[in-house]
Amino acid sequence: MTTPALVLDDVRVSYGDGDSEVHALDRVSMTVHPGEFIAVVGPSGSGKSTLLAVAGALTTPDAGHVRVAGEEVTGMADAELARIRREHIGFVFQSSGNLPSALRARDQLELAARVLGRRGRRSNDELLAAVGMQHRAGHRPATLSGGERQRIGIARALVGGPDLLLVDEPTAALDRQRSHEIVRLLADECHELGVAGVMVTHDLEVIEYCDRVYQMVDGRLTAGD
Ligand code: ADP
Repeated sequence: MTTPALVLDDVRVSYGDGDSEVHALDRVSMTVHPGEFIAVVGPSGSGKSTLLAVAGALTTPDAGHVRVAGEEVTGMADAELARIRREHIGFVFQSSGNLPSALRARDQLELAARVLGRRGRRSNDELLAAVGMQHRAGHRPATLSGGERQRIGIARALVGGPDLLLVDEPTAALDRQRSHEIVRLLADECHELGVAGVMVTHDLEVIEYCDRVYQMVDGRLTAGD
């Protein structure tokens, strides 16, 4: 059996205390293997962002264990958490409005590779082709549509050859057709590259592309299909 890309084991995160205590994650466990693309769906406030922050080594939980690509993340200092993010994790954000506006698409990927100090086995040109954007390589974000920016955001997240791809509401700013295209692309890339993908979303329309679907309610995770 291969090493899971992500293990959450009995993870708890709480905010506040006493009567105002909120269990953002309440004994959450999940295992995601290389090449799987899974969804976490749930209403606003159910804990999805907190789950991504824990899985993404951005915060450490109050209790429980987190392993990324076989490395125990729990209890790591900030510098080590940064190394885990750099070496193992790619992030795709809601609208990819965070692409630097001055950079052409191919330079967005080049910058990401230099910041990470590493590259996966695919070249930047191959990544642009994989997301259907080779013909837009010389374009800056302002001249791209929302769906095209999201494709660049996906290619950029894959530059370092991550083990784990964390995806936050990727269809929030897209129409129905683009939403389907983007989530199908994410699923295909995870399957093809052997990357473990975790997508949090409200959008039940697109979960058909996911290998498994978890539901999140009040900080508790339950397995769907
Ligand atoms: P979602 O992403 O599903 O909307 P969140 O993970 O953002 O849910 O939030 C889960 C719960 O934790 C909510 O009740 C939210 O109000 C609370 N919460 C999240 N972050 C904080 C924080 N920094 N301080 C206090 N409460 C928080």
